[in-house]
Amino acid sequence: MGKGDIKTRKGKLFRGTYGVRRRPKRYKSAKAENKNECTYCGVKLLKKNKALQEEKNTKRYPDNGITKDHVPQKCLFEGYPPGYKVNRITVPSCHKCNREFSEVENELRDLIGISNDKDELQKGLTTKSVRAILSIPNSQERLVKDSKGKVRGVVFDKDTLLPSHLKNFKGIFYEEFMTRITESFKIFVLDTKSKSNFEELVVDFIDKNCNWHESGHRDIFQYKISLIKPAAKGELVKTDSINEAVGVVCRIQYHKKFEILILATRKRILKKRIH
Ligand SMILES: [Zn+2]
Repeated sequence: MGKGDIKTRKGKLFRGTYGVRRRPKRYKSAKAENKNECTYCGVKLLKKNKALQEEKNTKRYPDNGITKDHVPQKCLFEGYPPGYKVNRITVPSCHKCNREFSEVENELRDLIGISNDKDELQKGLTTKSVRAILSIPNSQERLVKDSKGKVRGVVFDKDTLLPSHLKNFKGIFYEEFMTRITESFKIFVLDTKSKSNFEELVVDFIDKNCNWHESGHRDIFQYKISLIKPAAKGELVKTDSINEAVGVVCRIQYHKKFEILILATRKRILKKRIH
């Protein structure tokens, strides 16, 4: 029985109801079909047994060998009880993407860790983050100090956080729609803090149309995602069909503290607007 199932003390009451995490069978089979592509780069994946065979011969797991990638990254759960990360989303990924993401994903943990305000559970994360930040060569340049020389904050480069956000978004997309988001979409990461009218409209739309879903634990990672299509009078509405969709909107919240907004639009639509 999955989370969200309608159940009684004796067991599941309503046949045919499905949980938040466990999906109807028709979705499962669709997901299996799409398992032979990397969720992130789309490369055809080498099956596990073949990849292991190649590793045996070459002493190296092949770049296109299948791996299971977790969304979000493990390091966001550092210091939390193990139960927090059990029910995480996993997506098929090539070995190359998996490896490359693991090189940059600590940056996001560091951002969350150092902005910890007295959260006991976050202690482990904070310790690691502080150590990581201070151990990198340019750490002094990144520290923001006040007039008395006391450290007030750390500067984070938005570009280094970007790969983590994109990866998590692509993972969520795969989980929700059972297929990878293709290159026919251009993805924009927006800042929810910037209070322009546009960001507010997107957030409003998402909140009206979707509920929060979680991966691992809602205190660590939650999201809302929706496909959009144009309706009469040029207004945008929610759709469940990828073929109809002209865009995707998504809110991602890390540690209930940091939030990003993602907008992905069909490239052909962008082109039309420009010309
Ligand atoms: Zn890949």
